Parts: sequence; structure tokens; C-alpha cells
Amino acid sequence: MGKVAVAFASAAVVAACSVAAVMVRRRVKSRRKWRTVVEILKEFEEGCDAPVGRLRQVVDAMAVEMHAGLASEGGSKLKMLLTYVHDLPNGTEKGTYYALHLGGTYFRILRVHLGGERSYLDVQDVERHPIPSHLMNSTSEVLFNFLASSLERFIQKEGNESNSQGVIRELAFTFSFPVKHTCISSGVLIKWTKGFEISEMVGKDIAECLQGALNRRGLDIHVAALVNDTVGALSLGYYHDPDTVVTVVFGTGSNACYLERTDAIIKCQGLLTTSGSMVVNMEWGNFWSSHLPRTAYDIDLDAESSNPNDMGFEKMIAGLYLGDIVRRVILRMSQESDIFGPSSSVFSQPYVLRTNSVSAMHEDDTPELQEVARILRDLGLSDVPLKVRKLMVKICDVVTRRAGRLAAAGIAGILKKIGRDGGGGITSGRSRGEMQMQRRTVVGVEGGLYMNYTMFREYMEEALVEILGEEVSQYVVVKAMEDGSSIGSALLVASSLQS
Ligand code: ADP
Ligand code: MG
Repeated sequence: MGKVAVAFASAAVVAACSVAAVMVRRRVKSRRKWRTVVEILKEFEEGCDAPVGRLRQVVDAMAVEMHAGLASEGGSKLKMLLTYVHDLPNGTEKGTYYALHLGGTYFRILRVHLGGERSYLDVQDVERHPIPSHLMNSTSEVLFNFLASSLERFIQKEGNESNSQGVIRELAFTFSFPVKHTCISSGVLIKWTKGFEISEMVGKDIAECLQGALNRRGLDIHVAALVNDTVGALSLGYYHDPDTVVTVVFGTGSNACYLERTDAIIKCQGLLTTSGSMVVNMEWGNFWSSHLPRTAYDIDLDAESSNPNDMGFEKMIAGLYLGDIVRRVILRMSQESDIFGPSSSVFSQPYVLRTNSVSAMHEDDTPELQEVARILRDLGLSDVPLKVRKLMVKICDVVTRRAGRLAAAGIAGILKKIGRDGGGGITSGRSRGEMQMQRRTVVGVEGGLYMNYTMFREYMEEALVEILGEEVSQYVVVKAMEDGSSIGSALLVASSLQS
């Protein structure tokens, strides 16, 4: 071999070696990055862990906080608001009633016709629209004008069929935000939640604001009741099944209400109702306990939200937030490795990942996770490898499993407070071992998260059985109620006007 040939051969060997070295280095680097990602996942999973022992501590804390919130004004983060609803609809109601519902994402308008017996409940003309996002931080005038004009259009459409002229239409205003009531038909806004920020409205009478906007348009509509969405749902639940004593909403936000004995509402002594009970709106989104498994991602989400230090429980279990917790975990992973490639900065955008996408990814049962790939593509991330797509599904699972399990602990806490958990309640003096006769208890549940996200629902129901035990669980029926809050609020107007 000539000198030149030898030089060439050795140059080729050197080149091959350095290419191999680069490849090995890359592989080592990529393995190291993947290890980082796996460690972030592991740490997150541990932070979200909610074994049944921990859930039981949350159950106890919920029951204790409920008690404290009933004992004195400001006694707990749970406001335990009086609703002045003591007689729930029983099926004898008659007539035509309307409901306008301002939720966190949607507003709905509907009309119901009641024929005087349970089986005659005719829900007519349900309209559901997304709330235009500019309204969420507009002014009281803009918001109520919008609601009034939507109602005007609704009743213009019905012509004179449903309402002979000159007859006032009775309306329930279903309002999914905390309100301090003075009676069933009026109450002032305590604070906004779920990203709404119209500060001038805090402290104002919400029913009066709507009535004013309706009057200015000359509409023959009377705001007969201001109803929290959970209370509307309880009304419908009770109408169909009088064993319904608790309802919970898992939609954009989350909240619960239940039927409480008036003598247990210590902060309002001398409260007399014919039924001896009153519906209490817990505003449970604000529940807090050191037993809740909180991670650094939850802390950041809270700090950067429009309502920091508020609604801590809601921020772990409700539809508005689950997608953003997932996003924060992915963002951290993509910052510490390049698993999502150069376009991963999309995850720096708050709320870019919606909970609808979380459920779609989580429930993707195609072998190649094509739905996950589609959602990532829509976010501008193409060719994300399968193992990264699997990672996404896992993060969704961790977030939703924690949410479902905490939701179950919340429900079990209410059952404990009212002595339907098989233990006899927290104030009865009964010891835990002494089982009280268990009564059938129906928990009504509604909201977009619960209705549409099967895995959330399954995790919640599974954890409820784990907490209560098989025997007690047989008496606890969880019932889904679509659009329950709007329909139920209309029923409540009917029963309140007839009682
Ligand atoms: P609102 O909160 O306005 O009363 P809903 O009860 O319908 O409205 O809840 C809407 C919320 O439910 C959405 O913002 C979303 O967070 C959640 N949601 C709706 N559909 C799904 C879905 N398919 N998967 C997961 N979450 C969903
Ligand atoms: Mg709702």
C-alpha cells in the first residue's frame, strides 16, 4: 500500500471513529435526558399520591371544616352558605318556568313545563352557548345586557305559544358563583371564581342586576329565584328521587351542596323552616387541608391564577385546571430535556392545553396513540415519538386519578358530616365501630368534566367505594344528571312560588 493510500485509510478510520463517538455521545445524552424526564414524572407521581389512608384524612378534614363553617361566620374556609331553600320540589308543581344559567364556560337558557306530577316534566328549548370570553372581565352593564338580550331572543323565538300575553314569565337565575343570600330571590356576589374578574360586581345584588337589565328592555320576566347551580341540581335530583340529599358539580369549577338540619346551622340560631332543614351551599372549591397532596405545579398554578390563595381544592379537581396542571408538568420536562423538540415553547402558554384534550389523550385506545398525535399536531408539535406520547397519557392519568380520588374524599366527607358514611357523623357521639342503620343516600352529580370524562368518573367512583367500604357503598347511589342545575332551578322557582 502506498503512503497516500495508508493516509486515506487511516483518515477514514479516524472519521468513522469520531462519527461513532458523536453517535454514542448523543445516545448517552438522550438517555440522560430521558432519565431526567422519568425522574420528573416519578417525583410528580409521588407528589400526587392519594392512598386510601390519606383520603380518609381528607374526609375527616372536610367533615370538620363543614362543622366549623356552620358554627360561625368565617369559621372555616368553607363558607357553608345559607340558601333559604328548605322545601325542594316534590312533583306537584304546575306551569311554565324559565331558567338562565351562567356557568363557568357556558350559559344556558331553557323552559320547562310541569304538569303537576313527577312524570310530567317537559324540558323545552334548551339553548347552550359558550360565554364570550370578553364578558369575563367586562363590566356589570355589559354582562347583564348580554344576558338580557339572549333571553329576549329566546322568548321572541317562542312567539305566543308558551305564554299568553300579559302573563309574567317566572325565571330562575342559576348562578355558579358564591353568593350571600338574604332570601331565595336575592343575594350579593361574594367573589368571582373560575377566571371571572368584574370587580365592581362584588357586593352587588345579582338578581337585582339581572332584573334591572330585563326591565330596561321591557321584558315581562320576573327573576323569582337566584339559585346556585349545585342547588338547582339538588332540586332536580330530589324531584325525581327524594333520597337525593347531596349534589356535586364537576364542570369548569367544582362545588357541592346538601340538605342540612337547621339546628346544625349554629351560626344562624333560631332559623325556622317548615321542613326543619335547609340546603347549604358549601362552596367546597375553597376547601383546604394539609392532607391534600399538593405539588410544586399546583403552587405555581395558584400563584399565577386570577385568584391566588383561593379555591385550592377546586384547582386540583375542576375542569378549568386539570389541563393546566398537565401542561405545567410537560413544560418542565421540555425545559429540562428536548423530548418535544424545538416547538415545545407552545407549552409556555397558560391554559393552552384544555381538559377536553386531556381526556381525549387519556382515553386514546389506538395502539399508536393517534389521538394524542393529533392533539399534539394541533398544538404545532409534529412527529412526537410514541414513547413521548405514552408519557403524555401517563401524566394525564396521574392528574386525573388524583382529581377523581380527591373528589371522592370530598363526597365521603359530606356523607360523614350527615351520618351517611356508616359511622354516625362527627357530632353524634357515636363511636366509629357502632354502625347506624344505613339509609339509601343518593348523591347527584353533574357538570361537563364528570359527564364527559369517563376515567375521572371511574377513579372517583372507585375511590368512593374504597373509602366507604363495600357494605356502606351499597347504600350510596351516585347519579349523573345532565343539565340538572338549570332544569332543577326552574323547578325550584315553581315550588317556591307554590309553597
Ligand atoms: P359550566 O362549567 O359552564 O357549567 P359544564 O358543566 O358543561 O359547563 O363544564 C364545562 C367544563 O367541563 C369544560 O370547561 C371542561 O373543563 C370540562 N369538560 C367538558 N367536556 C369535557 C371532556 N370531554 N373531557 C374533559 N373535560 C370536559
Ligand atoms: Mg355548571
